Amino acid sequence: MEDCIFCKIAAGDIPATRVYEDEYILAFPDIQPQRPVHILVIPKRHIPSLAHAGPGDQALLGRMLAVAHRIAADQGSPDGFRVIVNTGEIGGQEVMHLHMHIVGGQDPIGPMLKHQ
Ligand code: 5GP
Ligand code: ZN
Repeated sequence: MEDCIFCKIAAGDIPATRVYEDEYILAFPDIQPQRPVHILVIPKRHIPSLAHAGPGDQALLGRMLAVAHRIAADQGSPDGFRVIVNTGEIGGQEVMHLHMHIVGGQDPIGPMLKHQ
């Protein structure tokens, strides 16, 4: 995808510190961290969102979750973390390339959602 920021990061056209990488996925720090630890994990292949993933993506999605603890621990959040996958307009997704946020640090993050 030509105009996709995360495809450009995956291709190395936009710089990012690669904190984890394998054949299928890549992880790098969020440019505007919301917590002391804030890492994005993306598939290298362009999938617009979780709403565009299907049964054929099970291994890829599992891989993203399966490395989360390792990445969180490596980045300074060994005792727990939160995974967030904003999806579509309702979910507040801003970058339309599937990504998983890993957020954490030393202090508890607090309630999952603010009450409406
Ligand atoms: P979303 O709201 O779509 O779930 O999250 C998109 C995230 O991507 C935001 O937290 C934003 O700070 C991050 N982001 C946007 N552009 C860039 C970029 O060029 N580099 C990095 N590392 N993060 C980005
Ligand atoms: Zn993309």
